[in-house]
Amino acid sequence: MTVTRFAPSPNGPLHLGHAFSAIVAHDLAKADGGRFLLRIEDIDGPRSRPELADEFRRDLEWLGLEWTEVAPQSARLGRYAEAAQALQDRGLLYRCRCTRADIAANATETGPDGPFYPGTCKAAAIPETEPAAWRLDVAGALAETGPLEWTDTLHGDQPARPQLLGDVMLVRKDLPASYHLAATLDDAADGVTLVTRGADLFNATHVHRLLQGVFGLPVPRWHHHPLLLGDDGRKLAKRRGSPSLADRRLAGEDGRALADDLRQARFPAGITLSPFLSGEA
Ligand code: GLU
Repeated sequence: MTVTRFAPSPNGPLHLGHAFSAIVAHDLAKADGGRFLLRIEDIDGPRSRPELADEFRRDLEWLGLEWTEVAPQSARLGRYAEAAQALQDRGLLYRCRCTRADIAANATETGPDGPFYPGTCKAAAIPETEPAAWRLDVAGALAETGPLEWTDTLHGDQPARPQLLGDVMLVRKDLPASYHLAATLDDAADGVTLVTRGADLFNATHVHRLLQGVFGLPVPRWHHHPLLLGDDGRKLAKRRGSPSLADRRLAGEDGRALADDLRQARFPAGITLSPFLSGEA
């Protein structure tokens, strides 16, 4: 039985790209009588607007999807803290006080997600009294797990290459977890067997696979679907003028018909599906 999930962050309204992602995940689960989960990823500090979660539920219902909602991330903070502590105890995390600007100024390489963290704080031993984030010692973690692999149902078997993203942050300075830590723990806790999400998160999966190895979690399969692109060739986003699902719903559009159009790759004028695998959109 396939278990998929849709894991939106309530930082802004859902748009067509989210609808496409939710429909792909929903249909993959329903195809074999499985379960489609909704998980609200609401730990983005002041950017999180809890009232948007209700809008999301209305949007999914309007699209004709059926889901089971699992606990939002804000209800799981204790679990994240425990897991981070376990990694600290194993010497796999180190403290880092670099800002984005510090990283941009000191980076000598660019990774798939921007300036590559150059390991500035790795040897710094920043005292725990000072506010700082925690980063994963990727080389140390890989030394424990040995080589790892993962499978994408669209793109085949992949050697895990977490080095591509460098020593990612696992605990943010202002929050008890980062996306990588929270999403990996949650997918395991929720029994997700097929992690379905946009191809822009393809590289994040290398890190998630490493975390699964380190924590001894079950390893799901992944399905990184192509992204919907606007006529500027970039990933759809509200700020670039595509109407949100709520705008369409409130304007009286038929959500189920829209969902069927997306299933058949009948996209509104100017919208196309990304031809490439990851990242750059
Ligand atoms: N909360 C993430 C987002 O909205 C979802 C990430 C994922 O599907 O793993 O982009």
